[in-house]
Amino acid sequence: EKDGVVQAAEQAVRKMQLSTDSEGEGDAAKRHHVNIVFIGHVDAGKSTLCGHLLYLTGNVDDRTMEKYEREAKSKGRDTWKYAWAMDLTEQERSKGKTTEYGVATFHTRHKHVTIIDAPGHKSYVPSMISGAGQADVGILVISARKGEFEAGFERGGQTREHAMLAKTAGVRQLIVAVNKMDEPTVQWSEERYREICGKLAPFLKQVGFRANDIVWVPVSGYTGANLRERIDAAQCPWYRGESLLELLDGLQLPPRPVDAPLRMTVVDKYKEMGVCMLGRIESGTLRNGDRLLLMPPRTPITVTGVWNDAEEVSAAGPGDSVKLTVKGVEEDDIHAGFVLCAESAPVEPTTEFDAQVMLLEHRSILTAGYRCVAHIQAASEEVVFERLLAEMDKRTGQIAKRYPKFVRPGSTFIARLSVSQPVCVMPFKAFAPLGRFMLRDEGTTIGAGVVLKVRHSASKVS
Ligand code: GDP
Repeated sequence: EKDGVVQAAEQAVRKMQLSTDSEGEGDAAKRHHVNIVFIGHVDAGKSTLCGHLLYLTGNVDDRTMEKYEREAKSKGRDTWKYAWAMDLTEQERSKGKTTEYGVATFHTRHKHVTIIDAPGHKSYVPSMISGAGQADVGILVISARKGEFEAGFERGGQTREHAMLAKTAGVRQLIVAVNKMDEPTVQWSEERYREICGKLAPFLKQVGFRANDIVWVPVSGYTGANLRERIDAAQCPWYRGESLLELLDGLQLPPRPVDAPLRMTVVDKYKEMGVCMLGRIESGTLRNGDRLLLMPPRTPITVTGVWNDAEEVSAAGPGDSVKLTVKGVEEDDIHAGFVLCAESAPVEPTTEFDAQVMLLEHRSILTAGYRCVAHIQAASEEVVFERLLAEMDKRTGQIAKRYPKFVRPGSTFIARLSVSQPVCVMPFKAFAPLGRFMLRDEGTTIGAGVVLKVRHSASKVS
């Protein structure tokens, strides 16, 4: 047991480090905003890692942590204290409407990080779909424990599914945290670490992550090793790279399209002294006072206030998750999935588009007429497969067969899809955030797709 003096000193040091960090390179406004999502098989240690990062970045005070520690000990579940810290922030979040829909935020030297999803829940995959749609970086948590990595990676394990979903949903960079390195069956074994990285790398490549988009780090979410401070050479002589937080801080993100026409995807709305909208700016710059068009209904609105992470600002840009107060529209007439656009360049809605679809393994064959739900950024709409246009050869990616009668699970194909209500989609190549979607049927993910071509009826083409 640590005595009080040591503990107080440690806390003071941590606070000091944090404040130097925040004063370090310039002011908070210069920090790059990144949204991260935790992915990985159940029990890989996502909640523990997430909670520990929040603790290390000063977001859970010591007294609360001690309370969790005592409760965890009394239940004989020592290692659970950090996962509980994660739950705590969630409870706090559910108490009131906050201006962000992320679970929690923390700062590193150069980055303002928003965790946009809650790991460890049954309903995790669906919320990951809408959440990961706004994520820049995925932290893929892998358990190094004997048997656990294997279980998560086999068929039916969530490692593959999550990595694939994350890629399709727009996660551009991946940090692979090989977790539980402290485990008795692992003991910071270089061999085990290399074995896991070696098995994962080809798979991640297949999913579409380039080697440059991935960084690898061995960690222990439980002991905290290699999370903030680098691992001690005595404990792990073979890894001399950066810690998880250092890696996160140093990620080079692609430049943001500040000068492009404004497009903000609407995630939520509510009433609080006027009509409020929550959303994420995908491109362009949004300023207080802007007159914009809400698509598909083409409603002209005026922005009367902009908040970025609880702070009122005069403007916000790509990647920012914002709250707006607006004039010109009723709360009931706003829906998740709408897109707020520059008047000069609105996204033209459609009810029909062609897409390349990848079916997951666990489904029966699919034929024309099949219906399911498409999650297109924050919108969820029933779609019908009107026509199967072509099936692709999995290895070459070339068209192998035209107009197939049916397609099998695991296949990739091109189809014409229709929706009953107009939606804002764009070809993936032209504008990725509005060009990708997930397909779900009876609560399970059955596939993912990218939009190839948007079909506009003659009257809408101008
Ligand atoms: P999640 O389902 O991915 O959110 O996983 P949890 O964070 O709930 O962790 C699952 C189990 O693994 C819990 O019993 C944790 O205490 C344990 N665990 C998580 N991280 C570590 C770690 O770094 N080392 C060890 N030894 N156990 C861990």
